[in-house]
Amino acid sequence: MNISKRIAALEESQTLQVAALCQQLRAEGVDVIGLSLGEPDFPAPAHVKQAAIDAINNDISHYGPTPGFPALRQAIADTINKDIKDYPVKPYNANEIIVSVGAKQAICNAIEVLIGPDDEVIIPTPSWVSYVEMVKIAQGKSVLVKTTMENNFCITAEQLEAAITPKTKLLMLCSPNNPTGSVYALDNLKAIVEVLVKHPQVVVLADEIYQHILYTGKHETLAQFPEIEDRLIVINGVSKAFAMTGYRIGWLACHNKDLITAVKRLQGQMITCATTIAQKAAEAAYTGPQECVEEMRQAFERRRDLILGLAREIEGMKVLEPQGAFYLFPDVSAFFGKKYNGKTISNADELVTYLLQEAHVACVSGSAFGEDNCIRFSYATSEELITEAMTRMKEALEKLQ
Ligand code: PMP
Ligand code: GLU
Repeated sequence: MNISKRIAALEESQTLQVAALCQQLRAEGVDVIGLSLGEPDFPAPAHVKQAAIDAINNDISHYGPTPGFPALRQAIADTINKDIKDYPVKPYNANEIIVSVGAKQAICNAIEVLIGPDDEVIIPTPSWVSYVEMVKIAQGKSVLVKTTMENNFCITAEQLEAAITPKTKLLMLCSPNNPTGSVYALDNLKAIVEVLVKHPQVVVLADEIYQHILYTGKHETLAQFPEIEDRLIVINGVSKAFAMTGYRIGWLACHNKDLITAVKRLQGQMITCATTIAQKAAEAAYTGPQECVEEMRQAFERRRDLILGLAREIEGMKVLEPQGAFYLFPDVSAFFGKKYNGKTISNADELVTYLLQEAHVACVSGSAFGEDNCIRFSYATSEELITEAMTRMKEALEKLQ
């Protein structure tokens, strides 16, 4: 069959690809430690599970409203409004929220309704694997702006200014960041907003899915700035904060009525609505006890400290302390050109293959995120497995000459 050019040009998601390879190797009896997939290893909270069971027993088994159940949309609006209550910005109402199948679909919806051929989307790299591919689906043009470890992997105001053209439609910012673990500080965001004020045609998508997995104290949201409140799309969901990746509930919030109408129309044609049972579970997540979020955050912080310490013991691995999310993104270029059994490792992809074969540790090459010198470890796994993985990796890397 001839697949459309638009879809044939898509890359397979490398994060999902490595995870599948990991599963396959395990099925074959190989003792692989997966540091590849970014998802909390905790079970969903008990009250969330109960809400899903209750939804089934209460026959919540019919189509729901396309943008999501009103009670869930209200619970989400209340959640954002709590975060922005101290700022001179408008609160969100429930009609300004659209619930989708994961934050992934919420982002894709936003891109699909805003971007067409030749429209430019500014994406600071390293960036999550799916942004560029989603822009491809919309036939837009990704303008990749390379950030550096020296700048905490954050785009600077100067870089942003230089990247904006009359064709720029969208800026995508992810903080806390996947894959770098960097967090935009308030000063960074202020400088970015100052640039945006000069370019009113640029819409801003703030991917805040890792909002609660933060080690710096307070989450600085782009929703605090009145200057951009009418052209901001906030993305979030329950996957990371509540360990509910498989429930597939994410959302976008936006004050712009045209955007909300367009997303509703698109979603109505594509999926009708997100799974109703999962929506009930997500409502319980937002309205129920929040201690579980903090408990998981603390566990991630302990794991962050552990993996950081172990990575720093590996000679040649250059690391930046992650301030959020659950990824470590070391520069491993010091290993390029080294040999094992006569074979040269020339890039991050080959190093990742070597680590899988030799140490039985799975991670993702930085090339998937637009940074060829790095590799990504997800430390959303137990302290025991992190220690074992890093020990195996250290031994394997020491064998390289
Ligand atoms: N944004 C980022 C930066 C991510 O890493 C992910 C991966 N889970 C998503 C969005 C999508 O999350 P989900 O679809 O599971 O809600
Ligand atoms: N966001 C996670 C990751 O980067 C999950 C997989 C995916 O959706 O890409 O690993």
